[in-house]
Amino acid sequence: MEKKVALVTGASRGIGKSIAIDLAKNNFIVVINYNQNEELAKQVLEEVNLYSEGYIIKADVSNINDITNMYNLIREKYNRLDVLVNNAGAIIRPADWQEISEENWQKTLDINLKSVFDCTKMFSELLKKSMAGRIINISSTVGISSAPPVIAYSVAKSGVNALTNAFAKALAPNITVNAIAPGNIDTDMTQGAGEGLINWVIDNTPMKRLGKPEEIAYLVSFLASEKASFITGQIIEVAGGYDLR
Ligand code: NAP
Repeated sequence: MEKKVALVTGASRGIGKSIAIDLAKNNFIVVINYNQNEELAKQVLEEVNLYSEGYIIKADVSNINDITNMYNLIREKYNRLDVLVNNAGAIIRPADWQEISEENWQKTLDINLKSVFDCTKMFSELLKKSMAGRIINISSTVGISSAPPVIAYSVAKSGVNALTNAFAKALAPNITVNAIAPGNIDTDMTQGAGEGLINWVIDNTPMKRLGKPEEIAYLVSFLASEKASFITGQIIEVAGGYDLR
């Protein structure tokens, strides 16, 4: 049987890196997208190649021309796509509602929200040809319960949840579309919040720790598998209880 192909956006580090490696362990060919960190992406490629096969593509997912180029490269090399993981994201600081500029607001929405719409639209026809197409969006708990210190990012992630719902309906029955809403995971993004906030978060998380990137990756691999064939349109929180309200 031919191997399935998965594209993971923003896979040079953090959660995306773990997702790429776990999908490779589950026998997917993995396309590793990165934006700025080529060296790190090459290290991920080496690790992916230990278990399966990988291919790296530089693309800024907030730029439609880069997404088109990524699409053309994937079509030429594999002419198939079975799983799209819209993982790339960024918090642009200052992110507090009182300090955020117009440019920052727009860039935050372009990277975290427009990219998900554009990638889904671009890859939906290829995914439809798969016998079990999957789209998995990496959202956030702040997309459900917004946080004023990261207001544009919260709005963008709420939008990702809305896209998940809309595309689950629009792309059924060929493709399932789900989102994972992580709580606070130990990556560069969380470390950027500073020690004081991290300690506050840990105190307010019933599991009393940050999550590990692998703890998101395992759920992605499950949603990408045949076992998740009847799950669509869901926003699944993985937050160690931080999301309990
Ligand atoms: P991270 O450690 O900061 O890594 C971000 C990744 O996204 C990097 O691989 C980066 O690539 C890539 N990226 C950023 N902007 C991009 C762009 N314009 N085009 C393509 N790739 C881009 O972040 P993370 O914590 O792993 O976050 C991954 C996802 O989880 C994001 O969607 C984030 O919003 C979400 N999330 C994270 C947390 C958390 O606690 N960490 C919680 C909830 C949701 P380069 O390094 O190559 O530029």
